[in-house]
Amino acid sequence: CFDPGKIPAAPNDPLYSLVSAYEADTSADTVDLGVGAYRDENAKPWILPTVRKAKAILEKDPRHDHEYLPIAGLPTFNSAAQSLILGADSVAIKENRVCSFQTISGTGAVHLGALLISKFAPRPSPDVYISSPSWPIHDQVFTNVGLPVKHYPYFRKDTKTFDVSGMTQTLNSAPKGSIVVLHACAHNPTGVDPTSDEWIEIAKIMKANELFPFFDCAYQGFATGYLSQDNFAVRYFVEQGFQIAIAQSFAKNLGLYGERAGAFHFVASPSSNASSTTNRVASQLSILQRSEISSPPIYGAQIASIILNDPQLLSEWETDLLTMSGRIKKMRKCLKEELDRLQTPGTWDHIVNQIGMFSFTGLSPAHVHELREKWHVYMAETGRISVAGLNDHNVAYFARAVDNVVR
Ligand code: PMP
Repeated sequence: CFDPGKIPAAPNDPLYSLVSAYEADTSADTVDLGVGAYRDENAKPWILPTVRKAKAILEKDPRHDHEYLPIAGLPTFNSAAQSLILGADSVAIKENRVCSFQTISGTGAVHLGALLISKFAPRPSPDVYISSPSWPIHDQVFTNVGLPVKHYPYFRKDTKTFDVSGMTQTLNSAPKGSIVVLHACAHNPTGVDPTSDEWIEIAKIMKANELFPFFDCAYQGFATGYLSQDNFAVRYFVEQGFQIAIAQSFAKNLGLYGERAGAFHFVASPSSNASSTTNRVASQLSILQRSEISSPPIYGAQIASIILNDPQLLSEWETDLLTMSGRIKKMRKCLKEELDRLQTPGTWDHIVNQIGMFSFTGLSPAHVHELREKWHVYMAETGRISVAGLNDHNVAYFARAVDNVVR
């Protein structure tokens, strides 16, 4: 029988524990490079100016209320989210091959997709290939629904670059029908992405080996700073006729972290019964969504919808994205320059070559520990830093701290 008394204690979530430790540290020198959330030049959360405008529009709208959304979520949000990730001119959208469900941000989207696979994939369940390393929650979400997880190499520690041969070799030998989780852009935690040519190569292998792409897109606009460049991989795979799953988050790019605005999209391959497949998938997603959350939260989706459906606000949002990605790029440069100036042992080119919110510094767990104990710097055990936590006031201090611990 079910005996809660026999439930073992689970470990705390490492990143949330880091946040608590940082908040409890009373030193005047604390630096928070842990959580993947954008911070302004004063290390404060930033409400995007476009989001402020959208909130004002929403408040004035006489139709604004707090009713339930439909099971699939806000229709104007779903359609705009679809166009954003697939491109407004997407043939898949025109051919009614896409269905979209608003979810509890990106995590909820990964979960909904994982649940769909676990329920409808043939037994034994297909392996789910996740990059090594990856956002740690990928492993947890797929494991929680009973899917077997495997890993493909992604990062070369020696060069701190993308491990194209490691990844392609593993995908070449993966069993047909396996699911492959791909970071659409701005890979978390490494900050290294495949080039367009490498994506083309990956697609070729996945096509030949009949692998199912499951894209996770949590940083559109954060890699290059441009929304329409950061969806290259997803668009390319759709153009190649894959059927794909996409988990999309608006936490980072709209700064709507706590509002939990995201979407899950399924795209069927082009065929005479593609829209029938999409409709059947949508009908099952409806059942899954209803039994998990009934209907998704309204507020964040309304904000996102106002921005995504207004050409003027959309272009202002792109300016906000450039503000965020531009400041992060500037901080990468400052950090590298400081480390060079201090003649810190090691090479630090990867700091400026990596993209997106994170840098995989190459610092060891022992370094990370010393940085925390001696310097009040909080970062993930893996050596990942959220570059957005750096600013003009603390970057020199952080460089000095790194210099000290690696000597
Ligand atoms: N995927 C990746 C790769 C992420 O880094 C994150 C956020 N850390 C997410 C998904 C999900 O984030 P959220 O649920 O806040 O949208």
